[in-house]
Amino acid sequence: MPQECIFCKIAAKEIPVTVLYEDEHMIVFPDINPVAPVHVLVIPKKHIANLLELAPEDASLVGHIVFTISQLASQLGIEEDGFRLVVNTKDNGGQTVHHLHWHVLGGRFMTWPPG
Ligand code: C5P
Repeated sequence: MPQECIFCKIAAKEIPVTVLYEDEHMIVFPDINPVAPVHVLVIPKKHIANLLELAPEDASLVGHIVFTISQLASQLGIEEDGFRLVVNTKDNGGQTVHHLHWHVLGGRFMTWPPG
């Protein structure tokens, strides 16, 4: 794991977070700077810098993560009204933490297009 990767440190429990869900592949925790009433981050425990760095063998990991997010929607209270799933990728995508992560945003109406 890259020494300076903050999400690797969260996955390794070196930085404490409120764990909303965890299994051997992934961890879910609240975003430290929420932009919606529900704003959680979903990360693979494995360090992958961004979506473009996925290897063919990561396909099942991504499927597992996205499927698990669908299963967590009820627990997060966003199943009935819906939510937005976002993967910011590199500079134009607005990515600031270079460890693949999904934002789950809900609890209010999301406008389109995004800023
Ligand atoms: O997609 P992007 O890389 O911009 O998102 C990174 C997210 O990680 C931000 O929403 C930021 O608030 C969050 N973050 C966090 N805890 C940290 C560092 C960043 O929740 N310690």
